[in-house]
Amino acid sequence: MKNKITLIKLGHVGHLVNLEKIRKWKSDIFEVTEIHCVEHLPESNVNDGFLDQKFTIKELSKIISCPKNSDIAVAIMPYRFIDNFYMHRISNNCVVISLYGIPEILEIDNISTENFILKQIYEICAIKYLVKDISSSDVYEFVHRDTRGCIFDLNGDREDILYNTEKPIICESCKDTFKKKQINSTTISTLEKELKKIKKPLILRIERRIKKYPFAAIIISGLIAISLNLIASLIWDLTKELLKNQ
Ligand SMILES: [Zn+2]
Repeated sequence: MKNKITLIKLGHVGHLVNLEKIRKWKSDIFEVTEIHCVEHLPESNVNDGFLDQKFTIKELSKIISCPKNSDIAVAIMPYRFIDNFYMHRISNNCVVISLYGIPEILEIDNISTENFILKQIYEICAIKYLVKDISSSDVYEFVHRDTRGCIFDLNGDREDILYNTEKPIICESCKDTFKKKQINSTTISTLEKELKKIKKPLILRIERRIKKYPFAAIIISGLIAISLNLIASLIWDLTKELLKNQ
């Protein structure tokens, strides 16, 4: 069964992420049914000596609710949580993702913010298969502190999102957890198949390969140039033969 997701823009987040791209994402795990917007947020009451907007889970839970026709509301804000973590489950069907400082980290490896949001949505959906109430502390049974490239990596060090945003996996121990919870194998394989699709566009993947293996790239481009040259002279010779025989 597909999870119906309502995305909520909190404040001015449009310059950081294009939610239409998320809406168009083809998935058998979730579908984005609506995009809402809460443009004006109240002034933060947190007084930590800094003047920027930041929120507590309690403050946000008063602002956000999940529409009746949706299973989960995922709100996205440019502001930070007071603990600086990037995602909190604020009620049994509402989650808030903070993009504060996230695009700067993703930029290191040319990863799009949209891919980051997609991976978070898959994580939320996966958690929903495992526990009835996504806000319960039972969730901490499933996440692990070590970074394995898995959707259940805790990412205590925020920079670790570089290793599990694109083509994330469900590690063997997390797969066992799914099996113990009697989640059927088709759901697990659908999740795995769709997670592999969270990747850079082809041109950026090629650029990344070139940066990683510059010497091999020079040899390959040299070989391509030689092959093109050979093909061109072959075509020229054939054309000459054809013209001669006419
Ligand atoms: Zn795992």
